[in-house]
This record gives sequence, C-alpha cells and structure tokens, in this order.
Amino acid sequence: MKQNELYTEKNTTKASKSSQRRQFLSSSAGIVVMLGLGFVGAQSKTQKLLRPPGGQNEDAFRAKCIKCDRCRSVCHTSVIGVTPIEEGFINARTPVMKFHLGFCDFCNQCVEVCPTQALEPFDKQTVKIGIATLTDTCIALNYGGCTLCFEACEYKAISLDDQKRPIIDADKCNGCGVCEKICPSLVLRSYIGGTLRGIEVRPIVKEAIV
Ligand code: SF4
Ligand code: SF4
Ligand code: SF4
Repeated sequence: MKQNELYTEKNTTKASKSSQRRQFLSSSAGIVVMLGLGFVGAQSKTQKLLRPPGGQNEDAFRAKCIKCDRCRSVCHTSVIGVTPIEEGFINARTPVMKFHLGFCDFCNQCVEVCPTQALEPFDKQTVKIGIATLTDTCIALNYGGCTLCFEACEYKAISLDDQKRPIIDADKCNGCGVCEKICPSLVLRSYIGGTLRGIEVRPIVKEAIV
C-alpha cells in the first residue's frame, strides 16, 4: 500500500472513531439530563405517586419539596414513606403514602411542619389523596366472606352488592387508605408472593401519559 493511501485510511479511521465518540458522549449526556430531570419513570403533569394530603398538585409539589423528611418524621401513623430511586432522580426520597404501613386521618401535622408549603393547606371535606380500587386479589370477589373494608371505611365510601361484594363510591372516597391497610388478602395469599392487596388506593389520573 502506498504511503498516501495509508495516510488517508488512518485519517478516515480516526475521523470515524472521533465521530463515534461524539455520538456516545452526546447520547450519554442526554441520558444523564433525562435522569436528572426525572423523565425516567416520572412524566410531568401526571400524578403517579400518592403524596401526603395537600401535595396532590404534582408539579407544584415537586418544585417545592426539599426532601427534608419532616413530614415523614411527624406522621403519627407512619403512613409516609420515601420514594425509591426507581421512580426517577427527581422523585427519589420525596414523601409517598404507603398504605401497607399506615393510613391517613388528615390530622394536618405534615402540612404544619412542611417548611416550603410543598404540602399546601387542605380542606378536610374535599381533599383526596387518591381513590380506592378493588384488585383481583380481593377475597370477597374471589371467594366471598370478607367485608372488612366495608366495615372499616368511616366515610361510607364502600357499600356491598347483593352477594356482599364491595362497591366503591369514588365521590365519597378520600384515599385515607384504611381499607388497604386492613385488607387481609395479602396475608392469605402470601404463599404465592406479591404485595397486591384486595383493595388499594391509586392516584387520581388527570391527564394521560404521552
Ligand atoms: S395528615 Fe396526619 S396522618 Fe395524614 S399523612 Fe399527614 S401527618 Fe400523617
Ligand atoms: S416536609 Fe415538605 S419539604 Fe420536607 S420532605 Fe415533606 S413535603 Fe418535602
Ligand atoms: S380509602 Fe378506603 S377506607 Fe378510605 S375513604 Fe376510600 S374506601 Fe373508605
């Protein structure tokens, strides 16, 4: 091979390597930015995490929450947990309701200690953390004989049909989580694993994920 050809070939290989490196760096930077902004696992404007009462405006909440942990520390029912990193960097360590641990009686203490008003003052009569939904592990739906959530709901948001299966009134439900906390279906079905209870509080979806 002539010296000129060798020189050209070397230059072409060098140029292609540097272009590959540029592509790699720009795509890596993109991923880092996406992670940083929380786009992975956390689309803006769509509430997918259950926040403590007063934190239901997800965009406003995320803009103000400084992850100080005061709400979690003060909650007397221990219903507030921390969001894991899997929900995106922006969400990581923000407070999230965990109804396997406790329930909310709307005592207002978390709002009072929040230093940034990420949790805004709420009206006890109208606030909604989420809405309870039956799942396919509900004992009453599968076998009958369980009416615990119906008995536990002090807001009369659960009634029973003619076969004593629960029916949830979404207008009356405020997402307090008592029903999910006491649901025994997880215990009865624990031999197959999983954590889904027969009734669970889910976020109120206002806008579809695009
Ligand atoms: S209102 Fe009270 S019970 Fe409910 S999450 Fe806040 S501190 Fe806990
Ligand atoms: S007290 Fe307020 S700022 Fe602190 S973690 Fe709770 S919601 Fe966020
Ligand atoms: S979350 Fe359950 S217990 Fe609480 S109001 Fe809704 S249906 Fe009733």
